[in-house]
Amino acid sequence: MSKILIVEDEEAIADLEKDYLELSGFQVEVATDGETGLKRAMEGEFDLYILDLMLPGVDGFDICRQIRNEKNTPIIMVSAKKDDIDKIRGLGLGADDYMTKPFSPSELVARVKAHLARYDRLTGSAMEANKIIEIRGLKIDTTARRVWVNGEEKTFTTKEFDLLTFLASHPNHVYTKEELFREIWDMESIGDIATVTVHIKKIREKVELDTSNPQYIETIWGVGYRFKV
Ligand code: CA
Repeated sequence: MSKILIVEDEEAIADLEKDYLELSGFQVEVATDGETGLKRAMEGEFDLYILDLMLPGVDGFDICRQIRNEKNTPIIMVSAKKDDIDKIRGLGLGADDYMTKPFSPSELVARVKAHLARYDRLTGSAMEANKIIEIRGLKIDTTARRVWVNGEEKTFTTKEFDLLTFLASHPNHVYTKEELFREIWDMESIGDIATVTVHIKKIREKVELDTSNPQYIETIWGVGYRFKV
């Protein structure tokens, strides 16, 4: 059974979220202030986090940042203000999804399920395949989510890592930007296929010696991308 941590100081909202999620078969724990939330997030084993942004004590930004330093568990950020959502996205904290209050609890449940399924798929496929992908100078530890280029470790955001690992796990397969966007992002509302282009560019800057002549991720003009082996 998947375990979810809700950090939310408005108890009525927390209770509503908890009820719906429990009815959908999830195990739910609630923390009603930032400090307790952060403590439970770091010490507990959860499959997904739902973080309110404005909290007494430690706010949702800090909790999100600290979870991401250590874990790749899906995070849904919640805020009462649309402006805050734009701010969270801009900060690139590594949250997987954003919702503006008030939202329907069934929408929340749908998103929770989608994120858990995607996370399972990503980690599951990593376990079926080799845990280490090694292609020329590029080494990806899909279990520990670490990447080395010619022996030097590089840091990747969650999405950059997911995209690189997905392409490297399916070498010589050409994917369109739409396919990659659906595979890695899922939620059509959070962005568009231009996001894929931006992430490919960032990945190339980290893995390629010469980004104008990429040796790993090849652009297939008019179609999409292919990981070369
Ligand atoms: Ca709040």
